[in-house]
Amino acid sequence: MSALTLSTPVSELKGVGEVRRKALLRLGIETVDDLLHHYPRAYQNRGDVKNTAEIKKALSDGVNEAVVSTVLTVATTPVARMIRRGMNIMKFRAFDEYGTVEMTYFNQNYLKDTFTVGAEFRFWGKVERDGAGLRMVSPIYEPYSESARLPALVPVYPLTSGITQKFLSGIIKTSLEAADGIEDSFSADFCSKYGIETLPEAIRKIHTPESMSDMEAARRRLCFEDVFMTAAALASEKSRRAGGAAPRFENTDVSPYLESLPYELTGAQKRALGEILGDLSSDVPMRRILIGDVGSGKTAVAAGAAYAAVRNGYLAAVMVPTEILANQHYQDLSAIFAPLGVNVALLTGSLPAGEKKRIQSLLAGESTDLTGGIDIVVGTHALISENVKMSRLGLVITDEQHRFGVMQRAALADKTGEVHILAMSATPIPRTLSLVYYGDLSLSRLDEMPPGRQRVDTYVVDERYRDRINRFIRTHARAGNRTYIVCPMIEENEIKAKNALDEKERSDPEEMANVVLTHDVSESAPLKSTVEFARETALRLPDLAVGMVNGKMKPAQKDAVMKDFCEGRLDVLVATTVIEVGVNVPEATLMIIENAERFGLSQLHQLRGRVGRSDRKSFCILVSDSKSEKAKERLNVMKTTYDGFEIAEYDLKMRGAGDFFSPEGSIRQHGDASSMITDSDADRRITEEAVAAAHETVERDPDFTLPENKKIGERISKMRRGIENTIN
Ligand code: ADP
Ligand code: MG
Repeated sequence: MSALTLSTPVSELKGVGEVRRKALLRLGIETVDDLLHHYPRAYQNRGDVKNTAEIKKALSDGVNEAVVSTVLTVATTPVARMIRRGMNIMKFRAFDEYGTVEMTYFNQNYLKDTFTVGAEFRFWGKVERDGAGLRMVSPIYEPYSESARLPALVPVYPLTSGITQKFLSGIIKTSLEAADGIEDSFSADFCSKYGIETLPEAIRKIHTPESMSDMEAARRRLCFEDVFMTAAALASEKSRRAGGAAPRFENTDVSPYLESLPYELTGAQKRALGEILGDLSSDVPMRRILIGDVGSGKTAVAAGAAYAAVRNGYLAAVMVPTEILANQHYQDLSAIFAPLGVNVALLTGSLPAGEKKRIQSLLAGESTDLTGGIDIVVGTHALISENVKMSRLGLVITDEQHRFGVMQRAALADKTGEVHILAMSATPIPRTLSLVYYGDLSLSRLDEMPPGRQRVDTYVVDERYRDRINRFIRTHARAGNRTYIVCPMIEENEIKAKNALDEKERSDPEEMANVVLTHDVSESAPLKSTVEFARETALRLPDLAVGMVNGKMKPAQKDAVMKDFCEGRLDVLVATTVIEVGVNVPEATLMIIENAERFGLSQLHQLRGRVGRSDRKSFCILVSDSKSEKAKERLNVMKTTYDGFEIAEYDLKMRGAGDFFSPEGSIRQHGDASSMITDSDADRRITEEAVAAAHETVERDPDFTLPENKKIGERISKMRRGIENTIN
């Protein structure tokens, strides 16, 4: 075989046939380059070797088992016997100078020749108390000798079914041969200036760290680059925009709008709207984010801004991530603006072709007539991409900004040119990240809820509560209230594979990572599809009307079901997270979330915000059969914490940043090191340094034309193009 290069397809690697090629493709891996950018999600710390005395001490008070690394010598010849058809058990004893351990392996009789008396191994795995002694079952073993050092940190990679940890580690190690060919966006001078490793070095160390400090140096470099590129892309967009001029809204008197509202704005709403109107009255293009917890009334603020645009003869475009939400906003805004004679239009992919065309031609028209043309258009992101010409566009509002991603925002700003942009999000960004993701934006915050809101009481329960849950649903339905049941968004055919994989991960000691860095999603309970849940729920509640929406349905089907639920023809709505964002059904008072351990806390908080939208007492029930203590601890946070910001910070601590910004359903980008960033002080420092470096670079060379910055510029253009493709 010829030497490996970055572009070598994985199918040319030893052991990768058609089946494994397809499995790797599911992980987004096609080439050697992709393999090198498939970072570990954790490391087993096998270097922390404990002797049997130390293990016994660790297992003393109340602790029954632990994951350890220990060096032992085989003491007795392995004895194998069949315990039932197809199941062999092999046992032997192994010792160190403090005591012995009973070792057990299943269906691996061939290891008899490996474990010869007197041979020394480093064992890694779970150790349990066995009466007065110790026992290990199927630990990982590595031949040990004083002279040949074994690696201390062993990477644990994200897997998919059909690919084992051992196999993936093997082909990644092989691929490292090509690491020298990796092109570094940063020059050697840059690397030494900011104290980061070169990329080939970092890639080598992230896969085969010799020590904790190796691993940390590699992580530092990869996180630094990720943050740097994002911050540099935003800063360069900002500097380009600084020259341009947006329309200046001369008339920012919105009192007719305020007077038409059925309520008075809260103090926070008034303040935010004031800040926005201030921006709009200047020709510097506004880049502002409005952050406010679920239910804090962001729509009313955004509507005030849109009204100002309309009053000044400009079109306002409102963009949201899903069609359901587009419909909801369209209805809300139509109701708000009807008394004011402002025309709101909806433009989504599922409109009949004729209607779409009619709206598009109105948008392209030059009319500023308040009654004739369109004043506000609501749509999905397709609005920007489908080459819809909007001749009078003055203001773009994006809702649920966190679902779009940062680079998408930069691309949007690029594409719309000189207009004002208001982003909105209910997901507060922990400090570590806000510096990067919102660093280029001005911030308005709604830190006050409209009056009369009640707390949504939250419970964490397991499957044993099913009957009680169903009774509770019934009670709510009888009182004229409605229930959401939300399941994780997973396609039915994926579920089998995933359950099998989870099962394997649980029983595979290689997966019991003594986690050094991770966003741990293992240890979930088995999954069910929405279809299954809907079916079961309907069977259990034959007296109620149960409907279902999931991602696979056509938009028109989804809308019809949502409408039935909104208007009370359904008592129960079984849904995937398509309902997560922005849906407003005041009669919904019960939110049940299945497989709750699968969701990020911020996402749970958003979902919980779908109930408690009126003065009726509301409840949220998180159902989880997860046995993981960590998962339970995480869910319990929801019982006591109702502040979205606190919840987001906690989530970042527990899971890393990955889940904040990868738009749902997308495969996480390779080399997306931001998923490794946590809320630790060290990571905060890396983030700050990278952002500062990005600003320094852009200040000196805003278009990346200096020779040493050329590659940075190319990399950013490539990121942008990638993002634009996802919009289009
Ligand atoms: P979010 O910030 O989650 O987008 P919404 O804009 O959907 O919240 O507002 C939630 C609900 O609160 C809506 O029904 C809205 O009419 C209502 N609302 C907004 N502002 C006020 C206010 N100042 N007083 C009373 N109700 C309000
Ligand atoms: Mg909203």
